[in-house]
Amino acid sequence: MLPTLAAVLRAPCGPVSVETISIPEPGRGEVLLRIEACGLCHADLLVAGMQKLPMAPLVLGHEGIGRIEALGPGVDGWRAGDRVGLTFLAATCGQCEYCRTGRERFCPWQSNMGFSRHGLMAERAVAPVQYMVRVPDELPAAEMAPLCCAGWSAWSAICETGLEAGQRVALFGMGGLGHLAVQYARERGLRVVAIDVSESKLRLARRLGAELTLPAEDAGRTLLKQFGGVDAAVVLTSSADAIRESFRALKRGGTLVLTGLSNARPELPLFETILKGITVRGHYLGTHEQLEQVFQLAARGIGRPQVETYPLSETPRMMERLRRGELVGRAVAVMET
Ligand SMILES: [Zn+2]
Ligand SMILES: [Zn+2]
Repeated sequence: MLPTLAAVLRAPCGPVSVETISIPEPGRGEVLLRIEACGLCHADLLVAGMQKLPMAPLVLGHEGIGRIEALGPGVDGWRAGDRVGLTFLAATCGQCEYCRTGRERFCPWQSNMGFSRHGLMAERAVAPVQYMVRVPDELPAAEMAPLCCAGWSAWSAICETGLEAGQRVALFGMGGLGHLAVQYARERGLRVVAIDVSESKLRLARRLGAELTLPAEDAGRTLLKQFGGVDAAVVLTSSADAIRESFRALKRGGTLVLTGLSNARPELPLFETILKGITVRGHYLGTHEQLEQVFQLAARGIGRPQVETYPLSETPRMMERLRRGELVGRAVAVMET
């Protein structure tokens, strides 16, 4: 067993504390990593609030950048010193219909960092190599960590709209995912409308290339009036109001991509869905190829997150700020060692 300082959820719904915990030595197909930075994701709040957990105590965190310190048995193609990015998807069966068709994220036998195994909000972590991605040395860890979840999900959500250059997309929620989605949508030549309740988040969206920004209230009606609706809407927040407004904003044949997890149970108006030919897509993570694309784009300066860095010891306080919606961009723990 190896001791490491980590942000630990002691029990389901329990408080998160930063303490020294023992993690197992790397097993077959796994590596030991020294973590450089790990972003704080809205999903960490969901995990911390779950009544039932696959394991506890549990180290949180699933968007991390680190360097390999030691290899477990049976690891090929990686060396000590390699710099890597790690995501929520830790390992999958590799054989089911989803794994065989590039949709490993839906594998029923997957394991997940910071959920069904110890995560990355720690100075050290052990992770399978199956879904690791190489990260160039020159890219700063604090900015790269959020790409492993927020960036990956945002880029693949924009791809999921199926839109082509010149079409208009409405992005609801300008948080960790949203402010990256603006950059990715611009990269694809889309015309971006950014929507949020916070004026400071909308200011950031304008700076990143949004053509128009709107307050959340009545955004759907405004978009219908102004443009006759948008070609696609992507909901990057968990707010039920945002889902309702995004649906209203669509023109005929429009696509709605949902990516913000919550317990909301939004109504689906059948008349409009059917008669307007609306497509509703649930969206979760992305393909491994899209994860690699995110880092290629970052190397070209596209999809660079706005981050607020903090020391690991501050994790509980930052989780509280995330819960209250006070963070602009992404909060990232930077390890001291
Ligand atoms: Zn996440
Ligand atoms: Zn599988």
